[in-house]
Amino acid sequence: MIHSELLFYLSMTMIVSGIVAFFVLLFVPSPYGRNANSAFGPPVPAKIAWLIQEIPAFLIPVYFIIELLFFKTSDSANVRDAILLLAPFIMHYFQRSLIYPMLIREGKPMPAVPFLLAFIFCIYNGYLQSSYIINYAAAGYALFAAGMAGNIHSDQILRSLRKPGETGYKIPHGGLFSLVSGANFLAEIIEWTGFALLNRSLPAVAFALFTAANTAPRAWHHHLWYLKKFGDEYPKNRKAILPYLI
Ligand code: NDP
Repeated sequence: MIHSELLFYLSMTMIVSGIVAFFVLLFVPSPYGRNANSAFGPPVPAKIAWLIQEIPAFLIPVYFIIELLFFKTSDSANVRDAILLLAPFIMHYFQRSLIYPMLIREGKPMPAVPFLLAFIFCIYNGYLQSSYIINYAAAGYALFAAGMAGNIHSDQILRSLRKPGETGYKIPHGGLFSLVSGANFLAEIIEWTGFALLNRSLPAVAFALFTAANTAPRAWHHHLWYLKKFGDEYPKNRKAILPYLI
């Protein structure tokens, strides 16, 4: 199973178990605090339980950052982005695992079952959030930056084809145009795909899809138009929008 699939299944499992938990917890109150129940295992002192069960969600992202900083050859922009994106998660679990337990006053002991479930959840979630951000969200920044640079560069190539006062069309060369006719469009799609990867939001995904739906057909029509207008003069290996493919 590839890594992105693993994260997808872990996320879906979390959503499905969240839905199941919602219905179960409507009928069985979470068995800790005021609802603590000895049927759910021997008691663990509240401060210790909160410290141990939550600390994985703090330590796992910190471990990922340390690994990125000292044991992986990543470019410094990627490291900075990963730190920025993981910072809110790390801050929350620093507070929850190291400060909050110290502030608890006369907290009721935590039965072992909810303690263990919370502990497992914090490992699961700590891995899921950190692994996504380290591997994909930081890459999203890089993809966005590369797409934006490619888009500006391609637009500039097109602009420079005309001398002042000219309105006709010439064959663009250089940059992404050596691969596709719709170089500015391909770069625009890469840009918003990176943005979606980075943001993980439905609006961002919608925009990336809309951009592709809007610009890929335009690239295709431009390509056919170039082939018709320039015939044999047009570079043979150049595709419409997807290098080497379409
Ligand atoms: P085009 O490639 O059709 O045109 C860009 C400019 O270059 C126009 O001024 C055009 O002149 C000129 N031009 C194009 N081809 C040639 C050529 N062969 N020779 C000389 N001049 C040429 O791009 P669009 O106008 O469709 O888009 C402009 C920007 O907006 C792009 O960066 C694109 O990625 C972005 N965009 C983003 C969308 C999104 O959904 N996010 C949707 C649409 C565009 P003329 O006008 O005379 O053809």
